[in-house]
Amino acid sequence: MVDSVAQIECAEDGGTTTGDGLFEYLGARRARADRPWRWLSVTAAAADLRWMERAMALARRCQPSRTAYSVGAVIVSADGQELASGYSRDRDPHAHAEESALGKLAAGDPRLPAATLYSTLEPCSERASRPRSCTELILAAGIGRVAIAWREPDLFVADCRGYELLTAAGVTVVELAELAGTARSVNAHLFS
Ligand SMILES: [Zn+2]
Repeated sequence: MVDSVAQIECAEDGGTTTGDGLFEYLGARRARADRPWRWLSVTAAAADLRWMERAMALARRCQPSRTAYSVGAVIVSADGQELASGYSRDRDPHAHAEESALGKLAAGDPRLPAATLYSTLEPCSERASRPRSCTELILAAGIGRVAIAWREPDLFVADCRGYELLTAAGVTVVELAELAGTARSVNAHLFS
């Protein structure tokens, strides 16, 4: 917990984690003695931000490409253990972050339904280089919760439907919009 607080406060200093979530979180630190349930809920939000920062660090390790995003992904169990991670082009020139992370776990792993997959970018809903999109792979794996930082812009695909398809299939999708700018900044070369 101390780590989470420290990391978020560092992020605030660096200007990467701002917005209502952070202020709500800091406010709750003062209120926790008389409202412990609220403390618990913001602790979960702080954990989401911390894991997304971990995914962001992976995204920064990607070999930059002119034709694909740099993305990081982490799969975390319900009890807060990292199960697998991946980033764009880590295993081969076409690998996607979510695909890479999922590929490190056995199909039917019983921890997956309660796990959260953190991805710095909305999972793709169509792709040319592979038969199955990351959205399809996430659904096939039975992941119950997905957290994203950045909705896919219409740079390579006109209308990414990852968010909509996951939600429609019953997956809980959390958007950490306060980190969208950071996820985009890792891909600044695509917009220059
Ligand atoms: Zn993908």
